[in-house]
Amino acid sequence: MAYSGWRIIREALTGNTGWAPVWRDPDPKPAYDIVIIGGGGHGLATAYYLAREHGLTNVAVLEKGYLGGGNVGRNTTIVRANYFLPGNSEFYSHSLKLWEGLERELNYNVMHSQRGLINLFHSDGQRDAFVRRGNAMINQGDDAILLDREGVRRHLPYLAFDNARFPIHGGLYHPRGGTARHDAVAWGYARAADRRGVDLVQNCEVTGIDVEGGRVTGVQTTRGAIRAKKVAIVAAGRSSQVAAMAGLRLPVESHVLQAFVTEGLKPVIDHVVSFGMGHFYISQSDKGGLVFGGDLDFYASYAARGNLPMVEHVMEAAMTLMPAIGKAKVLRSWGGIMDMTPDGSPIIDKTGIEGLYLDCGWCYGGFKAVPASGFALAHLVAQDRPHESAAAFRLDRFRTGRGLMDEEGTGAQHNLH
Ligand SMILES: Cc1cc2nc3c(=O)[nH]c(=O)nc-3n(C[C@H](O)[C@H](O)[C@H](O)COP(=O)(O)OP(=O)(O)OC[C@H]3O[C@@H](n4cnc5c(N)ncnc54)[C@H](O)[C@@H]3O)c2cc1C
Repeated sequence: MAYSGWRIIREALTGNTGWAPVWRDPDPKPAYDIVIIGGGGHGLATAYYLAREHGLTNVAVLEKGYLGGGNVGRNTTIVRANYFLPGNSEFYSHSLKLWEGLERELNYNVMHSQRGLINLFHSDGQRDAFVRRGNAMINQGDDAILLDREGVRRHLPYLAFDNARFPIHGGLYHPRGGTARHDAVAWGYARAADRRGVDLVQNCEVTGIDVEGGRVTGVQTTRGAIRAKKVAIVAAGRSSQVAAMAGLRLPVESHVLQAFVTEGLKPVIDHVVSFGMGHFYISQSDKGGLVFGGDLDFYASYAARGNLPMVEHVMEAAMTLMPAIGKAKVLRSWGGIMDMTPDGSPIIDKTGIEGLYLDCGWCYGGFKAVPASGFALAHLVAQDRPHESAAAFRLDRFRTGRGLMDEEGTGAQHNLH
């Protein structure tokens, strides 16, 4: 069934009674060619591209909860391609191009909105760094415009430009950056993968990974054992725990990241605004809520909720940047578990176990990566060699020290990213 405006009008006039579930709810089969552990954005996108790009459909995505219940439905929805370092920059550039055709391709409205993203700067040194970043982005074929103070004011007149500590000197404008409706991205990929024959198995927790003679042979789950020729771990914040089932110790720490949304307001913010010095970023959802977030809670945890010191920090940053926000009521906050690597960059690679693959380490930036990560992991699993866009995301860089991509310049400490 293709979605269309006519169908929506017809359903609206007939009480919305004609909609049917858009993916099947199959029981797991005893064996598959490929098992993907984790039904988040990355797992679902991988399943879709395995089917579409490589014709591999004897594939199951095993999800311990419900599809889209993890970080893919918990993030602040920012999609951008303004990374600086080789390795990262071409990957995120590729991802943004996939985003730009995604709705047509999936026939699903993921509400991708290229409303433009502005990174603010507050000092000469920061401006120099943004000039370099902007030039790198332009050389990469992406878009970047350096705005001076008045340029920022034209776009974002409601900001506090003369704050004594963080006066706004300008910003780096990335017009193709923006947002997308996060859980719709999971649903869109799920529907498209299901239609190509992939089994999406919910309420199916993987509890063990079977390895014989250095080769993966299947998984143990709460719904029974499943044999598989290849297994991909795509479990985001739970990556270390799942990899440990195969005896692997990953260079990943799990940390909480919180986000917040206010009551619905009339349109006020029509860009994504990033205030790096205050660890704060904000946009407005199509429902009118101001969606914003800050930094990690700075302790390792598997609790998908955060603590009050970071709430206070984020609210202070909001008031510093945009004092008018003090009039809005915060509706709710939530947390997600981030798979933090030492250099802040991801891993898409084989492991030392034949047939076992890894896609993790997305830190707090993995939503924008969903299409390119799925594309690259599908390529790796299908062809046993990395896709060129993700060739730098090697697991062994943390052992050898070669090829680290310390995008944020915060060093090899998970909790400083
Ligand atoms: C508050 C917050 C804000 C963020 N903001 C942004 C942003 O603005 N832009 C951006 O690009 N990124 C952002 N991120 C990061 C982004 O959401 C994540 O990097 C990305 O969603 C992780 O990949 P995923 O979608 O596959 O993860 P998930 O959706 O978490 O998928 C992993 C799945 O694996 C399942 N799983 C785990 N263990 C098992 C098991 N044993 N068996 C079966 N299934 C299992 C989980 O239930 C889960 O559904 C943010 C994250 C948070 C929490």
